[in-house]
Amino acid sequence: MNAENKSLRALIVEDSPDDAVLLLDALQGGGFSVIHERVDCPRHLEEQLREKPWDVILCDHNLPGFDAPHALGIVRRHDEELPFIIVSGSISDDLAAGTMKNGAADFIPKSNLSRLIPAIERELRESANRQALRQAHEKLDHMLYYDPFTGLPNRDGFISRLRIHMDNSQQGRAVLSLELCRFKQIMKALGADVGRQLLRATAGRLARHGVVARSGEDCFALLVNGIDDAEQAEQFAQTLIESFWAPFQIEEQELFICCRLGISLYPQHGQEPEELLSHAETAMICDQGEGRGSYTLYGKSLDTHRQERLELEKALYRAVRNQEFELYYQPQLDLNKRTIVGVEALLRWNRPDHGMVSPARFIPMLEETGLIIPVGEWVLRTACQTHREWQQRGIPPVWMAVNLSAIQFRQPGLVELVKCTLAETGMAATSLELEITESVAIFNEQETIHTLRELGAIGVKLAIDDFGTGYSSLNSLKRFPFGKLKIDQSFVRDISRDANGESMVKAILDMAESLGLAVIAEGVETLEQADFLQKCGCHEIQGYYFSRPIPAGDMAALLEAHHREATSCKPDRCEMDTGTRHAP
Ligand code: C2E
Ligand code: MG
Ligand code: MG
Repeated sequence: MNAENKSLRALIVEDSPDDAVLLLDALQGGGFSVIHERVDCPRHLEEQLREKPWDVILCDHNLPGFDAPHALGIVRRHDEELPFIIVSGSISDDLAAGTMKNGAADFIPKSNLSRLIPAIERELRESANRQALRQAHEKLDHMLYYDPFTGLPNRDGFISRLRIHMDNSQQGRAVLSLELCRFKQIMKALGADVGRQLLRATAGRLARHGVVARSGEDCFALLVNGIDDAEQAEQFAQTLIESFWAPFQIEEQELFICCRLGISLYPQHGQEPEELLSHAETAMICDQGEGRGSYTLYGKSLDTHRQERLELEKALYRAVRNQEFELYYQPQLDLNKRTIVGVEALLRWNRPDHGMVSPARFIPMLEETGLIIPVGEWVLRTACQTHREWQQRGIPPVWMAVNLSAIQFRQPGLVELVKCTLAETGMAATSLELEITESVAIFNEQETIHTLRELGAIGVKLAIDDFGTGYSSLNSLKRFPFGKLKIDQSFVRDISRDANGESMVKAILDMAESLGLAVIAEGVETLEQADFLQKCGCHEIQGYYFSRPIPAGDMAALLEAHHREATSCKPDRCEMDTGTRHAP
């Protein structure tokens, strides 16, 4: 009803046309402009309910072949709230009361139609209130259960859908949790709008496979029916991963993005929706896979793993607050000159009550949490300060190699940070070497080249770390202004193990030479490896063969001693014979 002109759509269930006219007169007399139909059998009542919207049903009791309770049943099947008023001359009080209990709004005797208008007005008001309330509920539901960016259900919405699906049958299903790798970096680099489009495009790809929801900032949840066992789940996961290999076309640019997945199975891993999603998330968080997408299937042992990770994460935040980090330094040798030419600064975390934690374990977590930004700044500043202190102690200059994570590398203001740190600590730019892994180059090549050039322009040296483990081809490498290449230790380890390993090292060295790049081999542990490398033309090495990473004080002492030895004795391998005695 429109309250202003008091129009009313009234469906009159009445076998007597005269009585219907009386009703209409009463309604018009009450100020309503009425649109109406009169029906007198169940079939026509059904038809009218189906075909048109009504504001009120006015229903007689004694009709040929049916009555008011029967009509009420029909109306309620169509609409649970449509006001239903009995207007009858012959219904007993008991029956009227019973029908009202079942949902009729009122009973008006035909002999007293003066009560009709106030009853209708009251019912219309209440109906409008109910509708407003329902809309408010729907809006709230939408806010609570849907993601505004993608229009998909959110995590809670997904759980309620899972519940509906599970109530329906016991058929095997897989619940997947999917994280888009590097999504946050893409958002940062290309803006929120591109990020949103990427989310929508991802949702589109996932929706082909089942019920999809956005369960977190860069996470989706997916329910896939008809998966009965681990083998089928793994096959499906692989297909899904491969479906991400095709680039996303967004605003005229191609974005390559990969995902990692966690999977739980119904009913094997749980009966409850929350449980299944949480297991899939645990599996995803524990997934250690690398490369172009990976998956992990849930298993009980992952719960402990997840717990440990959560504790480690909390401990890392504490470590940043309490400055529990330290830098160790590992020497880099020139085999021809037989001197230490550089040192690499390596982050160490001595976790209270736990001891040293491997960087391989905590650095990825620093990256995931974004803590690598402040910690990386601290590493850079501390390494530069230490270098300056060594200089002030009269230690002959060596270069200082500092690792930069891909996340730091993409931070706006990186070049400024390096400049300021050098200025503040008084370290010469030419003594600083930044080690960057190949992964920085995968995304936004132009920007990477630009940043590298800017760093190069300050005078800082640039080395590509862990070469051979990432994606770089010879061709792509040409485009990036690196001055040095670090052969990854996995290749060095293979020297003397198999001919293939040796030929790989030779191939890398040939390639580096053709590109005019200096080369250093890392992870050199034996004399045999050092000899092989030198023979092949790789003159710089770093590894346990000469020294493990050691604290700053020990490194200063080593540099001083080494300098004394180098100036006083020059027999073959004078420095090399120190072997691993510098182990911390
Ligand atoms: P990386 O930059 O490739 O560093 C070389 C790693 O090889 C170091 O491991 C070093 O201790 C180890 N290593 C050196 N010589 C040998 C050897 O002869 N044999 C073997 N088996 N290993 C050797 P570490 O210190 O555990 O660091 C691991 C990785 O963590 C580093 O690899 C680097 O990627 C990262 N990292 C360490 N410190 C930092 C840092 O301050 N910032 C960033 N972003 N990453 C860092
Ligand atoms: Mg390094
Ligand atoms: Mg390395």
